[in-house]
Amino acid sequence: MKLRNKQFLVKQNFIWNVLIILIGSIQFATFYPNFVEKLYSTHLYVGYAQILRWLTGWLPFSLGDVLYILIGLYLCYSVIRLIKICLVRKNGAQIWLILKNLLKIVVVAYVWFMLSWGLNYHRLGIAYQLHLQVNPYTNDELCVLRDSLAVKLNSLRQQIGQDSILPSPDLITLYWQAPTYYQQASKLYPFIQYHYRSIKNSLFTPWAKYFGWGGYYNPFTGEAQIRADMPRILIPYTVLHEMAHQIGYAGEEEANFVGYLVARESGNAYVAYSCYSELYKYVYNELLLRNTFPDATPALDTLVRNDFKRVNRFFMQEQNSIAPQIMDLYDVYLRANQQKNGINSYNEVVGLLIAFQKKYKKI
Ligand SMILES: [Zn+2]
Repeated sequence: MKLRNKQFLVKQNFIWNVLIILIGSIQFATFYPNFVEKLYSTHLYVGYAQILRWLTGWLPFSLGDVLYILIGLYLCYSVIRLIKICLVRKNGAQIWLILKNLLKIVVVAYVWFMLSWGLNYHRLGIAYQLHLQVNPYTNDELCVLRDSLAVKLNSLRQQIGQDSILPSPDLITLYWQAPTYYQQASKLYPFIQYHYRSIKNSLFTPWAKYFGWGGYYNPFTGEAQIRADMPRILIPYTVLHEMAHQIGYAGEEEANFVGYLVARESGNAYVAYSCYSELYKYVYNELLLRNTFPDATPALDTLVRNDFKRVNRFFMQEQNSIAPQIMDLYDVYLRANQQKNGINSYNEVVGLLIAFQKKYKKI
């Protein structure tokens, strides 16, 4: 019995030593973005993520969501058990054992998260790959971008048609087509290759309004989950954004920008319109933050304005008091992962767009 206890202790110490070495190595790697970019993000991660998508892509439901539900249930069970032991049995040794197990689960989850995706937050990223000079921008540059986006939006809306209601393509079709747009874009940008589709409806869609997201990537299963009940025009760009996460662009502004590069080359007016509508809102937000409202801008087409109003109405109807709290938590998560502007990181795509427009003279 004593020998078995000793073996157990040796095994536990070994596991903790391995975990500590892994955490140290991960932290060390985060100081070397060049190393992360060249060894991890564009090599090791690419192969690993493709295997994950190959394994989970064929499943008609999100395996990651099922795992999240199971983990949630296990955590609830552990907390109830802990409370019971604290209040009823008052067994200190058992309480310590449960806490130690929970801590081990948290540490393993952290190590797994960082090795299976999180290190991508510390890469050099898309600006490095495209040799873009991303600098602070002026209000005038912001206005030039907004005007260019407005012209694009008006033109794309005309290509979609004159009907005041936008088409509503089938979700599966949108998921199915998205990888072909990546294939198309990779001819121009060889580093944005996407293989093995793994895009699912989120099982949490009925509660999504309380979480405030349109999609999310599960780094443990490689799946991209999409909120299926959003206005359909938001779906194509959300899918391209999540796919960018899948291929290793962890930062929100990076995923937005890669989604833009792909939508731009898609040759599909509906997909491009979905993307430019979102980008226009980011630029508009920036102008609002700076209290800048230029007079002489190309007006948005009536059809475009009506589309915007319809989307706004959808989100106004589902406003609630829980979503802002969840967003605050998400803000903390982003700040802890190299996204110094937290939830506003999505808006940082504006800097990338201005740099891109300056370099390539197009948007
Ligand atoms: Zn994202």
